[in-house]
Amino acid sequence: MDRRSFFKHFGFLAAMAGLGGKALAQEAKPEAAQPVDSKRPPKDDEVKLTFIGTSHGRVTTTRAHSCTLLQTGGKNYVIDAGEGAVANIMKSGTHVSDLNAIFITHPHLDHYGGLYGLQQQISSFRKLFKEGNPRMTATYDILLPSSDLLQIMKNIKTAHRHGTYPKWHHFQVFKEGQIFDDGNVKVTAYGNDHMSRLPDGTPVAFSFLFECANGKRIFFSGDLHKSFDLPLEGIKKNGVDLLVCELVHYPIKLAVERLKDLPVKKTCFQHHGDAWEAKGWEERFAKFSSQLTMPSEIMTDGDVRFV
Ligand SMILES: [Zn+2]
Ligand SMILES: [Zn+2]
Repeated sequence: MDRRSFFKHFGFLAAMAGLGGKALAQEAKPEAAQPVDSKRPPKDDEVKLTFIGTSHGRVTTTRAHSCTLLQTGGKNYVIDAGEGAVANIMKSGTHVSDLNAIFITHPHLDHYGGLYGLQQQISSFRKLFKEGNPRMTATYDILLPSSDLLQIMKNIKTAHRHGTYPKWHHFQVFKEGQIFDDGNVKVTAYGNDHMSRLPDGTPVAFSFLFECANGKRIFFSGDLHKSFDLPLEGIKKNGVDLLVCELVHYPIKLAVERLKDLPVKKTCFQHHGDAWEAKGWEERFAKFSSQLTMPSEIMTDGDVRFV
């Protein structure tokens, strides 16, 4: 039984038995059990999220390192590009040549290990397009959380004796605050303490708020500190339609406390590892989920949700 089927059935049974909490009961609603047409594009008032890679630092046979594809308004954005990103984005039905921006939350390998391959493939595919194809001239943005990571990317290029990056790879190193606005999505970065800060206090690990032109608001936790330092100011101000939250670096009782009564319509947990693969994970997640004040799901590679 896959995860979706499990929650469809377990949620129903638990609700029938009076065992389900609020979240579990909401999971059991018929609309939550509807199959998702993962191939269709988002409608004008929707954001489509494809969970490309949902593993933490140790991959599994079915789950790759962190990567999420966000699609809205005819544009394609990637949040983190862990190992496996290129093949899995292509498998999801989106061509890597059609990405508009890539955002890296922090310089740990499970979040950027596929980035060089991604930019290299975007270059490689350009050679196949015929003159006049807009993909030949399209620029895309790569937003990096530290100048050290930019240097790593430059060093790989040097080691490969491939010269320098063509200008269509538009690298930017960002700091806290608004980091991107193309009229379709506005992105704000909030520093957290998942990684030790630079000597001057500058964070290198970030959470992101995506505010989409159609009004939808999605918050990505990135990786967090063990104290569950989710930057609440980014969520509390106007609320969010979806929180995409990692599930590894903190005791889950802290998440229950800190997520309590937040203006979050739903939480999708990803970046999960051994504990959520081991025997009995379904019951453990159901118990965790039932203590939250919003519906929640645990995601696996290839899952698609429309917000
Ligand atoms: Zn990670
Ligand atoms: Zn990390």
